[in-house]
Amino acid sequence: MTDLDQAARREQIAGNLATVRERIASACADAGRSPDEVTLTVVTKYFPPSDVRLLAELGVTDVGENKHQEAEAKAAELQDLRMRWHFVGSLQSNKAAAVARYADVVESVDRTKLLTGLSRGAHRRAATLDCLVQVNLDPGSDAGTGTGRGGAAPADVPALAEAVAAAEGLRLRGVMAVAPLGEEDPRPAFERLARLADEVRRVDPSATWVSAGMSGDLEDAVRTGATHVRIGSAVLGPRPPGR
Ligand SMILES: *Cc1c(COP(=O)(O)O)cnc(C)c1O
Repeated sequence: MTDLDQAARREQIAGNLATVRERIASACADAGRSPDEVTLTVVTKYFPPSDVRLLAELGVTDVGENKHQEAEAKAAELQDLRMRWHFVGSLQSNKAAAVARYADVVESVDRTKLLTGLSRGAHRRAATLDCLVQVNLDPGSDAGTGTGRGGAAPADVPALAEAVAAAEGLRLRGVMAVAPLGEEDPRPAFERLARLADEVRRVDPSATWVSAGMSGDLEDAVRTGATHVRIGSAVLGPRPPGR
């Protein structure tokens, strides 16, 4: 990119960020919450490392990625930034240790099979890894008829939270979810998530994070108690379909 392109991109991202921050602030105001209670994680999947640099310059502290190879390469290239890397994608157990080498937070812990690898990666890095239990909010998920977007069935969440809390090098921080596809109103699903977050806090009272809300539904997520929103397209623009 030329300097001129880069300046235009910076202006575009800065404008979008301002809009998103206003949306978060106004949803917080509606809910009687302080905007300090909500962390903005910008999901940078598909977008180049140069965009992550711009985000850092614009005060973004947390970014999310959903594919191991892409995330690993960006984190390596951008080591000089003080960015917190959130892994938000579905995770293969044979990649878990590698993800734990660069991720600061893994938001997509949805089965105990991942824990050995995550612990091993955290140990090699001599760091504690923040973990969120990803919940499947699809209506059929407890019956095993969910649509496979990832996440543990609600009934399995307490036991999984206990396993994370007991695992070496992992810190249970709370829960994460994506609203069910194709439902008009995400609020009932986010309310179910809030109740599961209460159950997880019974395992560890410091596990207070609730990561919910994307570009289209951040207001509903904030109103139902999200502490973290994961925003991609509203900040960076449209991605190619399927990303
Ligand atoms: C891509 C992605 C987001 C961001 O989605 P937008 O609709 O672009 O804001 C949030 N969470 C997860 C898990 C994602 O994969």
